[in-house]
Amino acid sequence: MKLISSLLAAAALSVASFVVPAIAQDKGTVGISMPTKTSTRWISDGETMEKLFKESGYTPDLQFADDDIPNQLAQIENMVTKGAKVLVIAAIDGTTLSDILQKAHDAGVKVIAYDRLIRDSGNVDYYATFDNFQVGVLQATSLVQGLKLDSATEPKNIELFGGSPDDNNAFFFYDGAMSVLQPLIDAKKLVVKSGQMGMDQVGTLRWDGAVAQARMENLLSSTYTDARVDGVLSPYDGLSIGIISALKGVGYGSGDMPMPIVTGQDAELPSVKSILAGEQYSSVFKDTRELAKVAVNMTEAIIAGKEPEINDTKTYDNGVKVVPSYLLKPVSVDKTNVKEVLVGAGYYTEDQINN
Ligand code: BGC
Repeated sequence: MKLISSLLAAAALSVASFVVPAIAQDKGTVGISMPTKTSTRWISDGETMEKLFKESGYTPDLQFADDDIPNQLAQIENMVTKGAKVLVIAAIDGTTLSDILQKAHDAGVKVIAYDRLIRDSGNVDYYATFDNFQVGVLQATSLVQGLKLDSATEPKNIELFGGSPDDNNAFFFYDGAMSVLQPLIDAKKLVVKSGQMGMDQVGTLRWDGAVAQARMENLLSSTYTDARVDGVLSPYDGLSIGIISALKGVGYGSGDMPMPIVTGQDAELPSVKSILAGEQYSSVFKDTRELAKVAVNMTEAIIAGKEPEINDTKTYDNGVKVVPSYLLKPVSVDKTNVKEVLVGAGYYTEDQINN
């Protein structure tokens, strides 16, 4: 009996000595501020970072701001007050964070802009993102391919949608797309029949699918009563779903009215299913797990007093400084490769896509 109890005591001791260093090894708090839960990508970005930080011994403080700017500011302020060492922020409005970032800087907190550049502040240390110009190039290239412009004898009618004008990325996507489309518009192979061009006319505040749907409905009734729209540049799957609903509402996608070529971004599950069903034409897959890894590696380097790995020092001028960046590569997906790419990467299971 005595032997058993001393064995138990020894076991308890060894458990304790195992537990204690694990607590002592806490490497500090990291604030993760994500914009919204309405798009699954941000949930996945946030949760992947949370998991990776925990695995590496940090205490992540993950917050979603419901696309509400004051809410995001309050959440970030709270992270600074609670002593976060690093903030990883995907801004709702990239221009509203200057004051809180000054406070963070004064408290010695480092800041990583996540996916979306934070503008007008010198207190942004690093930027982890995808090649956003290339995203636009991929979207427009896929639009042109879907329209079979090479073999077309008549000009094709297209309409353009942009992302949220308070998101720096929206301009990169649009500019990337126009680098492909503008020469074809100039050559009269493509016609923007409504005449609505430029981010000030085609932007979609807060990336809201309902806003895009309403604008598409207006375009259809103002411009396409005696003509067909052949393609729509959409920068994000959530908008594409709204645009497709508007198109279906007036009969596209049935009878002798084929569904126009509609692009997208993020490879969200409803859009992947829509692509396989022959409605949405394409999307751009950005592996958010890889982006999360980049941000976590950057944070670890910063905390260890080392230089994080970067691969771009020229592209992202935020109005005050060029922010050292790490850019990942986006991948275009359509019916021909969507399953192979997404299931192959382990981003979705075959079941998720099929059901
Ligand atoms: C992101 C896109 C996303 C969009 C809407 C952009 O900043 O880069 O991946 O589709 O926001 O959430």
